[in-house]
Amino acid sequence: MLKDVKGVGPKTLGLLNKLGIFTLDDLLDYYPFKYNSIAPTELRKGNVVICGIVETMPVTTYIKRNLNKLTFRIEACDQLVGVTIFNRSFMKNNLRRGMTITVLGEYDEKRNMITASNIMFKELHEEYIEPVYHVTSGITSKLIGNLVKNAFEIQRHSKDFIPEYLVTKYDFKDKDECIGLVHNPDDLNELEEIQNRLKYEELFKFMFKINFLKSCRTDTDGLPRNIDENVVEEFINSLKFELTSDQQKAIRDIAYDLLSPKRMNRLLLGDVGSGKTVVAVASCYLNILSGYQSALLVPTEILATQHYLNITELLSPFGMRVEILKGKTPKKERDKIIEDLKNGDIDLLVGTHAVLSEDVVFKNLGLVITDEQHRFGVSQRNTFQNKGKLSDVLYMSATPIPRTYALTIYGDMDISTIKTKPAGRKEIVTTLESPKNIKKVLESMLEELKSGHQVYVVCPLIEAEEDSKMMDVITLKASLEKAFQGKIPIGMLHGHMKPAEKEKAMDDFKNGITRVIVSTTVIEVGVDVPNATMMIIFNAERFGLASMHQLRGRIGRNSLASKCILLSDKSAERLKVLVDSTDGFYISEEDFKMRGEGDLFGTRQSGDMVFKLANLKTDMRLLTMANVDSDEFIKNNKDNDFKDYPEYKKLVEELSHID
Ligand code: ADP
Ligand code: MG
Repeated sequence: MLKDVKGVGPKTLGLLNKLGIFTLDDLLDYYPFKYNSIAPTELRKGNVVICGIVETMPVTTYIKRNLNKLTFRIEACDQLVGVTIFNRSFMKNNLRRGMTITVLGEYDEKRNMITASNIMFKELHEEYIEPVYHVTSGITSKLIGNLVKNAFEIQRHSKDFIPEYLVTKYDFKDKDECIGLVHNPDDLNELEEIQNRLKYEELFKFMFKINFLKSCRTDTDGLPRNIDENVVEEFINSLKFELTSDQQKAIRDIAYDLLSPKRMNRLLLGDVGSGKTVVAVASCYLNILSGYQSALLVPTEILATQHYLNITELLSPFGMRVEILKGKTPKKERDKIIEDLKNGDIDLLVGTHAVLSEDVVFKNLGLVITDEQHRFGVSQRNTFQNKGKLSDVLYMSATPIPRTYALTIYGDMDISTIKTKPAGRKEIVTTLESPKNIKKVLESMLEELKSGHQVYVVCPLIEAEEDSKMMDVITLKASLEKAFQGKIPIGMLHGHMKPAEKEKAMDDFKNGITRVIVSTTVIEVGVDVPNATMMIIFNAERFGLASMHQLRGRIGRNSLASKCILLSDKSAERLKVLVDSTDGFYISEEDFKMRGEGDLFGTRQSGDMVFKLANLKTDMRLLTMANVDSDEFIKNNKDNDFKDYPEYKKLVEELSHID
């Protein structure tokens, strides 16, 4: 138990909980995020690590509230050197004349004084590797290090998720030994090997889950449908436009899945504006004609409303009933929807998380579609699936995913990709501007407005923050109003607004009541205002390439030429990728290379992909190994229920509960 570890009292326990540490294993798995190598240096200007003997008793000076310093002298390198350390007056009791200590800090030659950042109460002879942990206020990295050491005193054995034959194959060290060494490495050169072993284990376990789920889709677990796929032609012919060949192909893939006895688990991947919605609607059309209900789950209310309106227009001519359910749907309306849904009177329900609520029950759900699905975690995905045990599932995403990432997060799915954009679209011309040229930017903005079009303006902050040079929505809106002398109606949109306010802001923009909208990145993926032809992004260096590509997908939505201006005073090489390319796949690969997976989906990334040590950007080789190995492991052990591997037997049981 965690509380049995020496040094863990009620207060520390609370702080550890705050860091997500609840059990002994959590503590031991709380790996350092970096290591400092500390080795004695000479006494010279700058950063030093000096061993010396305390010569004078320390004196405490109280400078002001919350600021005190301790001053004393040590004999080091054959001379007396002053030492000052701030806010560690408690150390006074531990310092005695004649004792040898090691002082870490910055040496000022003129004053012959070290301003210490830390003091170790021992003599350091050789390199010392200090683990550094993420902390929260009230707990230090050092304390965590000590608790970890104390935890090792408790008799324990950590479960190793790597099957023994693989431990042998790769000649991995014992797991407990590795955990010990990762907290206290003897040698940084050895660290990589140890970390790789722990990373491989994480990845193996993760890929096991993905590959296991994949192996469970059998050839006969789908819903029976007696329908000719050609009936979809009638829907396609009712459209106002020609479908692109990729859209047609995607519809064919889906129709094939729907009619096959195997359950569909497909990802529809297409860059912003590639026209995924109509493919989804065609799928619903087929599903409804074959006698089942459909559900479309989207991440925001704005998007839900937009889809609802578009889809109603497309499906109501066929006598199909579409409804919408949101968090703020009034109770009476909600009750009616729930009632009709249960009776099978609703053919397609569009909604946000509200649809996941337990009392929302379908009569015969046959197809579940989630839009921008990377915003939902696996557990939410599963709740949704449970509403129709055998339902076919279609995921849609506009985030082109690098190969490695696709393998992990979508490893158990079939994929359809829409690469071509609908005909007649003008490319979006993207340029990079220094904020110094803001006048020129405003002029071109005015020109755009004068010709009747609308403009998105994006910046990183909501309100002005002290010490921040970044632009915020409130300030920017006011400045633009001033610049256009109040003649242009300007709206705003940000995360602190209430859902109803956001919706109104979006509606006003869509209806042209406001001509400019200033916002943070909340202008959601999927929002469609074809008359908007320009986007200006302030502090572009602050955003990921993939998210900016998503953002600029809000423009270029009709046959008008569109412009995206990236404002940045940093001559970021990175931003040129956006200027040079409008290929979402290329951009996301570049972004991934430069920034890693953490930023790909912004901060909203689901918790599923959080590894303690592994990093998909740098650990591709380990991931590939884990993928191949876990697949083989499943093939060899699934038939006998993993009887030789109790930990996997348990994992499989957990997995069958959620699916
Ligand atoms: P996304 O893939 O980003 O979800 P949408 O489905 O919202 O894209 O489509 C963007 C716009 O393109 C919509 O206004 C839609 O009606 C239109 N659209 C879709 N397919 C075509 C097509 N084949 N030809 C012309 N316009 C299309
Ligand atoms: Mg969309």
